[in-house]
Amino acid sequence: MSAVPGTEMASFREVLERRKAALVSEIEAKLAEARAARVAPDASAETDGGDRAVLDVTSEIDLATASRDIRELRDTEAALDRLAKGTFGLCESCGDAIALGRLRVYPTATRCAPCQSDYERSRGGAQGTSL
Ligand SMILES: [Zn+2]
Repeated sequence: MSAVPGTEMASFREVLERRKAALVSEIEAKLAEARAARVAPDASAETDGGDRAVLDVTSEIDLATASRDIRELRDTEAALDRLAKGTFGLCESCGDAIALGRLRVYPTATRCAPCQSDYERSRGGAQGTSL
């Protein structure tokens, strides 16, 4: 039994695979940048401490973005896993089918809209998808 028609499954798989590939190369680029920013300033470190601080902040921002990407990559891989197991599109809280419209916007969703808002309320009422 599956919540999503076969034709839709194929397109979700394609969307998720493409997103996964994009995230992997984004993460690799960010980590390489952060590493480069950390290594490069050594030559000029003696001249002025100020430049180095700016570079450190920049690489920290890169790392923060990278870790957000890594979390999204994990969600994307989990969604691909559910596709393989045939549980994609089923709410992990109530077991009902997640609305197709919701999955199209948010293919990594693990809950139907009502369960997701219950879940967010129970976590302390944080609005939206912020941290
Ligand atoms: Zn549900």
